[in-house]
Amino acid sequence: MTANPFRSAQFVLSAAEPRQLPHDSGAEIAFAGRSNAGKSSALNAICDQSGLARTSKTPGRTQLLNVFALGEERRLIDLPGYGYAKVPEAMRAKWRLVIDAYMRERESLRGVVLIVDVRHPLKEFDRQMLDYCRDIEMPCHVLLSKADKLGRGEGARTLALVRKECVAQNWPATAQLFSATAKTGLDEARTKLLDLLVA
Ligand code: GDP
Repeated sequence: MTANPFRSAQFVLSAAEPRQLPHDSGAEIAFAGRSNAGKSSALNAICDQSGLARTSKTPGRTQLLNVFALGEERRLIDLPGYGYAKVPEAMRAKWRLVIDAYMRERESLRGVVLIVDVRHPLKEFDRQMLDYCRDIEMPCHVLLSKADKLGRGEGARTLALVRKECVAQNWPATAQLFSATAKTGLDEARTKLLDLLVA
């Protein structure tokens, strides 16, 4: 890929609720994942900006939907990471409601990128998200992150297993290996995101 259109991504705002988001027009993609799965690193790598998703880690902003604009009509939405140890259950339940409402109601949402640590594929949260995508017919692209932590053969085996599970569960999902550290899978991820944004 010669020019990376995601390089223009800029932080816009943090929203506690969907109604605080920018006007619901154009197209956007949401990034989801368990905390520590590598979501911020993936966003930074895809956008080729080392500090971009630092915003999402700022204390007080981890529970918010952080919005990054790609020009006027396209956006990336960083959803709250799921499973922060210090967060009480009542608050997690509230996040779930916010994410549910966002995904159900947002007209401009074109797809979800689900970040999953390749060493811990498809935990409960990931399955819930994929089930939810199936329920609302929302395309999902799974980034099996930190692929540099596994050998080639093991990574390929995990990818094959996850793809097989997607078919078996009828999840509307595709999957790939990804490493923000080794910068592998970047072009594949960007191409997929662009396809979703123009679909
Ligand atoms: P988030 O909580 O999902 O946003 O996760 P982060 O992006 O902050 O990453 C969590 C931890 O995993 C950090 O220590 C990162 O340095 C590490 N990490 C993220 N991506 C990769 C990767 O591709 N390879 C390796 N080896 N470590 C990674």
